[in-house]
Amino acid sequence: MAKAQEGNRTISQLDKTIPTNKRVIAWPRMGNIDLSMEALVSSIGAKIVMPPPNNKEALEIGVKNSIEGICLPYKLNLANYVMSLEKGANTLMMFQAPGSGNYTKMAQKTLKKMGYKFDMVVFDMYQSKMKQTLKAFWHVSHCLNPYRYYKGFSTGFNKAFAIDTAERLLFYIRPRELNKGDAESCYKKWYKIIHDTTSVLGCKGLKKRIIEDFKKIPIDKNRIVPKVYLLGEFFVLLDPFTNQEIEKTLGDLGVEVQRQIFFSDWLEHVLQPSIFYKKESHRQRCVRYAEDYMKRAIGGECIETVGDTVYGARNGIDGIVHIMPFSCMPEIVAQNILPKVSKNEDIPILELVLDEQTGKAGNITRIEAFIDLVKRKKMRQINNKKEEN
Ligand code: SF4
Repeated sequence: MAKAQEGNRTISQLDKTIPTNKRVIAWPRMGNIDLSMEALVSSIGAKIVMPPPNNKEALEIGVKNSIEGICLPYKLNLANYVMSLEKGANTLMMFQAPGSGNYTKMAQKTLKKMGYKFDMVVFDMYQSKMKQTLKAFWHVSHCLNPYRYYKGFSTGFNKAFAIDTAERLLFYIRPRELNKGDAESCYKKWYKIIHDTTSVLGCKGLKKRIIEDFKKIPIDKNRIVPKVYLLGEFFVLLDPFTNQEIEKTLGDLGVEVQRQIFFSDWLEHVLQPSIFYKKESHRQRCVRYAEDYMKRAIGGECIETVGDTVYGARNGIDGIVHIMPFSCMPEIVAQNILPKVSKNEDIPILELVLDEQTGKAGNITRIEAFIDLVKRKKMRQINNKKEEN
């Protein structure tokens, strides 16, 4: 497991040759994390460049400069760095999960070989990393004003909670709405408002306003809507380009998607010291529920995938969609455990492996067939219950 180091360099060993006022910061694109990162980094006075959201061009750059068998998130991250460096970035932020230290080194080496000069600041993604995170932000900004840190963390956190609330409501309302597209328009409207809100007070009030606004959308409360957990590797779950907007596909097929990994949950978990946890964390619950199938975490989101599948099966979830990047070792392990879980816990599971070759049309056909099966199973259960009564 990668220790609290920066790509095997401690904070004190990071590149100090770039003057603070000349630093231009970039990070890889992944779903909505930009809303929070932008708020945080800009409030401590650092300059930012942002690559475009992941797209075909990024994929081509990533594929061209990576070894063939490496996973899709690595390729897209690398492409984001290249695009940012081309736009003038000199300080790259890297989010590193336990066990992915080699990826960091590989990306650094590749970018250096391509002739780029930069400083890479690495964030270790697991548990209680507030001190390390503050040090990293100090390293890139030398900001002495505590209010700016407070403002950055407060607005960043509240934006993450706000957008994740909007996403959860979108997933709930989309399959139930009376006027097709209402939930999507409401979500897009709030994305812009969240982006444009900069004050601490304004950001604090976002979540409540979002809930009130989504509640106004007319829905059919009696519609039979199967619930499906969307599980898998962190990056593909959060990045709509990489997962081919699977949540929208499922929602349009009349399914309520319940994604188990959200950026705000992770943020809270990573930054908050563990002594402040009052309740069982998502990860702890996963470890508990996965116990019958695997004894310890092996990196990535493997234990979350297995634990959430068991939890979902025992708590009224109708099906599981497991998405993973091609060649992702932790998810390959999960993929091999899931057939047993599916059989023992009586829950249908759809496996989707994603890479640059994956066509959307083929996946949609498989998703449609799977949802058909899930719906028929749900109807059978409802009819059986009716007969019993
Ligand atoms: S967890 Fe899997 S997809 Fe994610 S970086 Fe590691 S190998 Fe790649």
